[in-house]
Amino acid sequence: MDKPKYTISTAAKLSGISIHTLRMYEREGLIIPYKKSSNQRLYTDRDLERVKCIRHTINEDKINIEGIRRVVSLIPCWAIVKCNENSRKTCEAFNGHTKPCWMINHENNFCTGKDCRECEVYHSFGSCESIKSKLKELLT
Ligand code: SF4
Repeated sequence: MDKPKYTISTAAKLSGISIHTLRMYEREGLIIPYKKSSNQRLYTDRDLERVKCIRHTINEDKINIEGIRRVVSLIPCWAIVKCNENSRKTCEAFNGHTKPCWMINHENNFCTGKDCRECEVYHSFGSCESIKSKLKELLT
């Protein structure tokens, strides 16, 4: 599930989308592919699940990319990774609402130097169902 094994062309083919679209999802912050030292992107089965969820949200739920980005930007990362108060005070993820935490520049805060692709926040919200169940877990 978590082994990076598909090249971008295979991942695009398996997902029924173009390479261009897959790249756009990355630029828009909806997906973070694994990158080899050569910078080649590789995708896991979990990444493909994430793409499936994005496609479903766009095609069936009629929510566009900007809408999806705003939904994921509401994820309370601070409650999941339990960062300290000082980090929150100046953090764009805590104070803003337009970008998910994995899209912002983590300078001098709790998340500095972390690999967002490996973070529980990014992982927990890989599908529509997982967003709901994580919020339930945090709020009940
Ligand atoms: S991105 Fe990191 S430092 Fe910022 S609010 Fe979220 S968990 Fe805290």
